[in-house]
Amino acid sequence: MIAELTMSVTLGCLVWMPNLCLKDGVHINGAHFDKEMVKIIDVARETAPMLKKDTVWITSAADSQHMEGSLHYVNRAFDIRIRNIIGDKQTEARLWAERMQEALGDDYDVVLESDHIHVEFDPNTPDGFNIRME
Ligand SMILES: [Zn+2]
Repeated sequence: MIAELTMSVTLGCLVWMPNLCLKDGVHINGAHFDKEMVKIIDVARETAPMLKKDTVWITSAADSQHMEGSLHYVNRAFDIRIRNIIGDKQTEARLWAERMQEALGDDYDVVLESDHIHVEFDPNTPDGFNIRME
């Protein structure tokens, strides 16, 4: 698994999981393979709108610049590209975010940002109280 992962990240795409790619520089840790985080990937793929080359792109995991306290820094958040959506990008992105939130449930927060969808596993957030941690 580790060797496979190393190779896959080098290639940019997870070869045993078609249609999921990582942008250059995205840093994935072992904790991203916890079932709670894999669920985000599964749901993103299952609920995706029409995408160029039918590929879901992860544009950030534990990398890039995020707000202090962001769950990105504790391997509990992914950013998903929306610019590769075919059709009305903003409408389709909003619907995708809504489908993901519905499928993932209350333990997750899905936030549509200007150029990506931020998804985090945050079971401790009380219902109706959603601090944005981007
Ligand atoms: Zn994010």
